[in-house]
Amino acid sequence: MSTYRWHGHVTRSAAALVGCTALVLSLTAATAEARPGHHHPRDTARQTLPANDGWASQGTGTTGGAAADADDVYTVTDWAGFRAALAAEGTAPRIIKVKGTIDAVSEGCEAFAAPGYDFDAYLEKYSPENWGLETDLSAEPDDSPEGLRRASAAQQDQSIKVEVPSNTTIIGVGRDAGLKGASLQIKGVDNVIVRNLAFESPVDCFPQWDPTDGDQGNWNSEYDSAVVYGSTHVWLNHNTFTDGEHPDSAAPTYFGMLYQQHDGQLDIVKGADHVTASWNVFTEHDKTILIGNSDSESTAAVDRGHLKVTFHHNLFKNLVERAPRVRFGQVDVYNNHFVASDDYAYSFGVGKESALVAEYNAFTLPDGVSPAKVLKRWNDSPLTAAHNRVNGRTVDLIAVHNAQVPDETLRSGAGWRPTLRTRVLPAWAVPVVVDHGAGAGRLR
Ligand code: CA
Ligand code: CA
Repeated sequence: MSTYRWHGHVTRSAAALVGCTALVLSLTAATAEARPGHHHPRDTARQTLPANDGWASQGTGTTGGAAADADDVYTVTDWAGFRAALAAEGTAPRIIKVKGTIDAVSEGCEAFAAPGYDFDAYLEKYSPENWGLETDLSAEPDDSPEGLRRASAAQQDQSIKVEVPSNTTIIGVGRDAGLKGASLQIKGVDNVIVRNLAFESPVDCFPQWDPTDGDQGNWNSEYDSAVVYGSTHVWLNHNTFTDGEHPDSAAPTYFGMLYQQHDGQLDIVKGADHVTASWNVFTEHDKTILIGNSDSESTAAVDRGHLKVTFHHNLFKNLVERAPRVRFGQVDVYNNHFVASDDYAYSFGVGKESALVAEYNAFTLPDGVSPAKVLKRWNDSPLTAAHNRVNGRTVDLIAVHNAQVPDETLRSGAGWRPTLRTRVLPAWAVPVVVDHGAGAGRLR
């Protein structure tokens, strides 16, 4: 998001905002300067990440498919067309324009079910009363209920996961473009832009019961809306991520545990590096964003020195946890608005060898939810948290956390200073600007 476009957002918001004239004038004046050297074509599909705009601008920067030849520009309106555009050979720059909402599971879960698969038979065989909680299901044969579930899940996996090649821009056209039930795999590639898409979280049609997970067993499900796996230079801009028509609140309970059919919204794992997520909305979800997915030494060897991600001007609304949960990476989180509801667990998960900098963010918490909950210590990695505001007041998030959760003390000082930032707003200005600018359907 360049300062030029951003200026447009603020100006457009002005008409709708009574009493915010002073704010708008001051932001407009402050953002009127153009950033030198940044190409800003009118065609949004050919725009590139502005210089200095977060970790994805490091080194070669992020241009996606901006330089695509005319014959490498695709407009797609259904899942088969989208898959075909992604699968076309080569890594020459390509642009994929998504028109309308594309459903990756238009024929429903039944289309993936292996012959003979029966969920009632599954529940019957593996109930804690019948199966117990001692043995997992990995040795179950192919013709067992679990074997048939595995085969069904493999069908879904193959159908909804799509791999994004290097040098690609995927962009929604207009205000109502999106992907339902899809899982974008940005895996082992470089230079990808994803913009202006509403992602409705994939629903795992075949969650697996693990009797040995926790004290009571648990349901585990797959599929994130987007995964950045070992890839570099990825810019996610003006997207909306939501559970949409399938909220967890509507999920049933089996064996006393929530039948969870969602995984994450965005995972950044396996040595992925140089990612900027800006002006997105992340909403209505439980486990939202994972940066680094394991503490293990083998994973550490891949992740250490990588997983550098910037989040700015995103709206994080009505989420339970992981916004984001960080391991290993230098992660810069500035100028985001976090709006919590009553089932809020935490925003920032401080994990192994993480180096989180969280500055100039705004938090809107409901009555009875303490700002001590914003931070969750999974590891005592030091972090920087400054100039953040909670419900209109400046709050030292580390101090209030340490005062209220003394057995999970966090240390201050991430050990690095972000330099790849464009303009930084004071935290008081963040809610109005982000709420009116972030998400899909808001690119001009
Ligand atoms: Ca060509
Ligand atoms: Ca995941």
